[in-house]
Amino acid sequence: MSQTPSDEFNPADIISKRLIQRIRTDGPLPLPAFMMEALFNPTAGFYATKDPIGAGSDFITSPEISQVFGELIGLWAVQSWMDMGAPDKVVLVELGPGRGTLMSDILRSARLVPSFLDAAEVILVEASAALKMVQGQMLTNSPVAIRWVKSLQDVKPGPAIILANEFLDCLPLRQAVRHQGRWHDRCVSHDETEGFVFTLGAVLEDRDIPDEARSLEDGALIELRPGDIQTIDLIADRFAQHPGRALFIDYGPDQFEPGDTLQAIRAHEKVDPLDRPGTADLTAHVQFDALRKAAVERSLDVAGPVTQSTFLTALGLEQRMARLAADNPDQKEKLARQFHRLTDPSEMGELFKVIALSSQNLPDPAGFHP
Ligand code: SAH
Repeated sequence: MSQTPSDEFNPADIISKRLIQRIRTDGPLPLPAFMMEALFNPTAGFYATKDPIGAGSDFITSPEISQVFGELIGLWAVQSWMDMGAPDKVVLVELGPGRGTLMSDILRSARLVPSFLDAAEVILVEASAALKMVQGQMLTNSPVAIRWVKSLQDVKPGPAIILANEFLDCLPLRQAVRHQGRWHDRCVSHDETEGFVFTLGAVLEDRDIPDEARSLEDGALIELRPGDIQTIDLIADRFAQHPGRALFIDYGPDQFEPGDTLQAIRAHEKVDPLDRPGTADLTAHVQFDALRKAAVERSLDVAGPVTQSTFLTALGLEQRMARLAADNPDQKEKLARQFHRLTDPSEMGELFKVIALSSQNLPDPAGFHP
């Protein structure tokens, strides 16, 4: 039996040993299984063990950049509730709430409409025990009751507003590589000298390959996002029974694009996705075109995708920032920097997209027309 170099206790070691064991037993692991282990292994996964979000941690997200992001989404949620006819009860669901900052900002701005808060129950869908604790602390003074569930499936029936910022990007990703005229599942194997390495696995069924990819040549790589489709399925089932609207904000192209977008971020640096699994965030571009098509096929009404910049501008980001700067002149430069990060094409303004999915016969959602 070979020994791994270090016998010290550390999370990276636990994940690597488990992965090596699984590869020895079952053969090369498809990427979704590798990602799930690295991110959500309950004892040592990247999300399971710590809070990776914020300036001093691994990565930063829009709600952590500016409170205005969440405030505008709060007003968007209130408007959506009104569009649904202001039902007596509504579940306000957030998928992957991170540090709880977005929900806290949403609830602050929703205080402007007390009847919405009277109707709302907040349900947070979170897989990480560590982040659930952070969310609990962030929302101790919440004006409405908060519950946690592990999956969207566990959210009770009824009218719903569902919000998700940077949730889809960390759902398990499948990659397919074209080799000798056929599409192979891209898998992870392990080699004593090289460590974890990519390898080709089973041939995928033709029906799993999008039409746009059929003309690609040998060596091409495409990405399939089974987790996104599962999420859309759950939303479509729900919205066929009860009115609802869902908002997804994430990064990725609005048209089909082949290519490898899997990236690992550790302490704000890009690193090799196979290096020390469990110690870096793994994400990949969301394919908004595929998301849109899947939603339309399931009879959802779709708005967008539009860029984050278009969406936030249509909701009044500039005016709100100007107002804050007028009230707090010493914060003027900081606010300008935040505005730039959220909306500039060189930052999050264009790569990030926004899409809304609604049950049928609701008015158009706010934010999708400049
Ligand atoms: N929305 C937050 C956090 C983004 S990080 C923000 O904008 O700051 C991704 C979040 O999704 C984390 O809270 C992570 O634990 C959660 N998450 C990822 N995959 C999940 C899954 N399958 N089920 C539930 N939560 C998940």
